[in-house]
Amino acid sequence: MTEVSRRVSEAERIYLSSPDVGDDERAALLRAVDGGWIAPLGPEVDAFERELAARCGRGHAVALSSGTAALHLALLEAGARPGRIVIVPTMTFVATANAAHYTGAQVVFVDCEPETGNLSPELLQVAIETLRAEGEDIAAVVPVDLLGRCADYSRLEPLAAHYRIPLVSDAAESLGANHRGKPAGSFGQSAVLSFNGNKIITTSGGGALVTDDEVLAERVRYLSTQARQPARHYEHSEIGFNYRMSNLLAALGRAQLSRLESMMATRRAHREHYAELFAQAPGIEIFQRDGDLSDNCWLTAILVDESVERWDADEIVSSFAAAGLETRPLWKPMHLQPVFRGRRSFTDGSAERLFRTGITMPSGSALTPTELNRIDDAVMELLKR
Ligand SMILES: *Cc1c(COP(=O)(O)O)cnc(C)c1O
Repeated sequence: MTEVSRRVSEAERIYLSSPDVGDDERAALLRAVDGGWIAPLGPEVDAFERELAARCGRGHAVALSSGTAALHLALLEAGARPGRIVIVPTMTFVATANAAHYTGAQVVFVDCEPETGNLSPELLQVAIETLRAEGEDIAAVVPVDLLGRCADYSRLEPLAAHYRIPLVSDAAESLGANHRGKPAGSFGQSAVLSFNGNKIITTSGGGALVTDDEVLAERVRYLSTQARQPARHYEHSEIGFNYRMSNLLAALGRAQLSRLESMMATRRAHREHYAELFAQAPGIEIFQRDGDLSDNCWLTAILVDESVERWDADEIVSSFAAAGLETRPLWKPMHLQPVFRGRRSFTDGSAERLFRTGITMPSGSALTPTELNRIDDAVMELLKR
């Protein structure tokens, strides 16, 4: 193969965050199969829930089919419904906004802090005051822990408490991180985790809701199994959902969770390495670098200074793509997405700037030494230009 065709070969593409699955996961899956509990529930689900609750410093966890499903049920339980508002950061993956929309509530977007990309407490306060003055009814606020950095809960929690609005924490990206010593997932009325294929741990697809509220946990368990009441003939008095996690996937999740610390350490090592590589590049810095000892380093992103002539984020993404690297702009803000055009939003340009200047780099814990060398080469080549 020529160098050029080798470089574009699909099989050799280096992805942002591939699943890191090996012997432990294989053994866990076989254990679950041999145990005879294939689906729907079983002992692996119970154990995974106990382990997740402990990891998040919570009393209860409910394992579900996805992070989006967990958000949907968390928001329904927070009282989101038609005629009420759910406030969502504009800088997030679409799932946060979609789940709010499923409840029939009106989604309102609020901008982020420029340094972290997380929900701005100042703008949140402006949004709440403005909406309340107009007589609007706010059901919930959903802070998102962007790329594995916890939102500023030490300011968001008191603010939400002051206005008596429940917080639902979208911790889909932040399992293992902490904020001032308290683990991701421990904030808000409930918090939501994701085990999608590219997240820090994966069950191939899955999620969970964690909370200290036993009644809420029981309600979510009930709603996620078609709201089936305990009668022999399946009695139903509410609309339910098929959102539960299967026993096989919970087994996979347990093996992944037991390796979380080492997978975080690997991702952190990648971040340190990127910091070294880009240290000599004027106008390029590592996003969320300040304070990242508390982060899980799910994805490392670089920020390109727009005022430095030499750099254009689009061009950088293209040049990495030519070298077979998957890199991506930060999430396109929700208020710019066609599907949410015209929605109410409180913005100051921060999310738009991060979208223009931020690029997420391959960060997975399963990157091989060969792949890491290729990333080095691609970065060096870029910096030489
Ligand atoms: C991945 C993600 C979700 C959704 O999780 P799924 O398990 O893919 O449904 C929600 N919010 C954020 C911020 C995410 O990154």
